[in-house]
Amino acid sequence: MTPFEVSRRSILAGLFGAGMLPGAAWAGKANTVHHYQAPFFTAHVIPGSPIVLSEHALRAEGQNVVALTFDDGPDTVNDREILRILAEYKAVATFFVVGSRAVHHVDMLKEMVAAGNEVGNHTWSHPMLTTLSPEQQAEELRKTDEVIATAGIVPKWFRPSYGDYDSHVLGLAQGEHLDTILWSVDSKDYRGRAPEIIASKVVGDLHPGAVILMHSIKHNTVLALPEILRRAQAAGYRFVTMSEWQRIMIETDSAMKLAQQQTTPVAAVTR
Ligand SMILES: [Zn+2]
Repeated sequence: MTPFEVSRRSILAGLFGAGMLPGAAWAGKANTVHHYQAPFFTAHVIPGSPIVLSEHALRAEGQNVVALTFDDGPDTVNDREILRILAEYKAVATFFVVGSRAVHHVDMLKEMVAAGNEVGNHTWSHPMLTTLSPEQQAEELRKTDEVIATAGIVPKWFRPSYGDYDSHVLGLAQGEHLDTILWSVDSKDYRGRAPEIIASKVVGDLHPGAVILMHSIKHNTVLALPEILRRAQAAGYRFVTMSEWQRIMIETDSAMKLAQQQTTPVAAVTR
């Protein structure tokens, strides 16, 4: 039992079944504590995002991109195996590392990025951030950024441990130039599931634009990975980093807005 095996709270299933909820639900609620719930879409996966896309939009663009994320590493054994499998399937992922572990394995971070993957900040000690003082919260983010920087990497993404954040944490992340990212598909690999169960869960919940939560520190996750990649790629999905995922989201959003403008009649100009 590692310190990271505390069960996650309030993570609901049924992404698409839940439909699209109003975006940016956190806005204006000063310091309300949020534990991630799984309605669709970008405004919930990236708290505060002004972009709200539907499954239809992403499919229509023919993108079918998904982002694999591996939390709680680096784990020198499992992550090296994950890197090998990703390379075999010509896929990339994003690794959300814990600073207190990363400090001992800076070379591992370099290996991840050298292979085309991305590295993000997953706090220093994996706490429930909303139970900490503002100063402690700031330390959790800042120290981890500093470790990642020693590998020559500027992290762009922050994932709060346990998906636990409040508006102050979001503000801190923004101050560190980090976008806070949650997930839309939960592998629940932290529950000690068998590899085939993890694979079925992930593949069964996949959707265009999915952000998939997995964990570096679980060996069954490594064992499940080839099956996930094989079945998802056979279904037409492409695995991208968080930054590539975001770029495609923004592009798709702009294209949709442009198309909307072009179909809206222009009002007569009075001179
Ligand atoms: Zn974690």
